[in-house]
Amino acid sequence: METVKYTLTEEQMPTAWYNIQADLPQALPPVLHPGTGKPITPDDLLPLFPLALIEQEVSQQRWIEIPDAVRSIYCQWRPTPLYRSRRLEQALDTPAKIYYKYEGVSPSGSHKPNTAVAQAYYNKQAGVKKLTTETGAGQWGSSLAFAGALFGLEVLVYMVNVSYQQKPYRRALMESYGARVVASPSNETQAGRKILAEYPNSTGSLGIAISEAVEMAAADEQTKYALGSVLNHVLLHQTVIGQEALAQLELAGDYPDIVIGCTGGGSNFAGIAFPFIGAKLRGERDIQVIAVEPAACPSLTRGKYAYDFGDTAHLTPLTKMHTLGSGFVPEGIHAGGLRYHGMAPLVSHIVNLGLAESRAEYQLGCFAAGLTFAKAEGILPAPEANHAVKAAIDEALRCKEEGVSKTILFNLCGHGHFDMQAYIDYQAGRLVDTEYSATEVAMALSGLPVVE
Ligand SMILES: *Cc1c(COP(=O)(O)O)cnc(C)c1O
Repeated sequence: METVKYTLTEEQMPTAWYNIQADLPQALPPVLHPGTGKPITPDDLLPLFPLALIEQEVSQQRWIEIPDAVRSIYCQWRPTPLYRSRRLEQALDTPAKIYYKYEGVSPSGSHKPNTAVAQAYYNKQAGVKKLTTETGAGQWGSSLAFAGALFGLEVLVYMVNVSYQQKPYRRALMESYGARVVASPSNETQAGRKILAEYPNSTGSLGIAISEAVEMAAADEQTKYALGSVLNHVLLHQTVIGQEALAQLELAGDYPDIVIGCTGGGSNFAGIAFPFIGAKLRGERDIQVIAVEPAACPSLTRGKYAYDFGDTAHLTPLTKMHTLGSGFVPEGIHAGGLRYHGMAPLVSHIVNLGLAESRAEYQLGCFAAGLTFAKAEGILPAPEANHAVKAAIDEALRCKEEGVSKTILFNLCGHGHFDMQAYIDYQAGRLVDTEYSATEVAMALSGLPVVE
């Protein structure tokens, strides 16, 4: 039995992004101004984002048209393939059907260019010259660097220090696209200097790197800030993934019982799951949706659903989300893209409403699952994506145990070709399972902002 590929033509690529806010049974809690505690206005965000993206952030319109210029760039790698992994099914000896959507075919190797290209486009339209951002594993930084090169925008990336050390090739890729990459915390910003004064050997975190990038963008009129996950407009741009998967499954004559994605900030999970959750909310088929996060940074499963800052230096507005506290610095696990203290407000809201469930996995089990997958399919997943692979395999094995056949769909959000050191370390037995520190989380949560 061979693996089967389902492809769409360029004409069948989605023409609009899907905005789940239009179908939610309860509106998303408002974003609050950290000074006044009142809902923020578009004006508050203008120093950081172009108006078009702010409008998308708050839009209640179900479909938002993808500009032609963005769509024609997407066409270089989209529609991405959907596979039915018959060889993995066979290897697991499961009655389940396993489908995966493969986003690793993009130029930078993950789902991130789906939003990077859109964000670069709207910034260019607004006359912006330079974008600042943060990156964990380097997937987002390289995607924005790629998009910046396409639109002639300067890109400055604050890269979490532990990844800067662990992933020199990702840094080299960003620099190849023309971006400048700085290890975070850095001496270039007030936020960075403050952390370094207290912790000279800080491994850094996404929360710290966001503070640095936001500070630099706010200080210069021609510079804006781009975020690779978490925000509503980012999740919106990723919905091309799930929309394509719906059409491809229709070609296969199938519909998933279970949809799975890994979650760092929530964007690839939202990308694959929101179109299916939307269909359910509009009275179409019911599905089980699973968000999988690392046990070392378990915001959805162990965090508090509360208003918190998106960054460590408290420069961002307050959003209601599952959070481990903005001061929490997770262990340096290899799935660097999943080391964020918070979670997308939309994903948090959806989990809170019971429309999706969450689980946490340790890294050793995830790497083992990734290798099982690689042996069957030949694609080596990104360490982040291994969390989704793990859950898909577990669900397929559960089907075998229970003697039921279910259709499982997961998002293979990126390849692991820049993460070979992680695989070398895993195979050499040098990786360990790290527990998050409940004491540190409690400490970080005790600093949550007080909201009336
Ligand atoms: C960035 C990244 C993630 C985590 O971000 P989400 O917004 O949760 O998707 C996961 N996997 C890969 C491959 C990434 O590049």
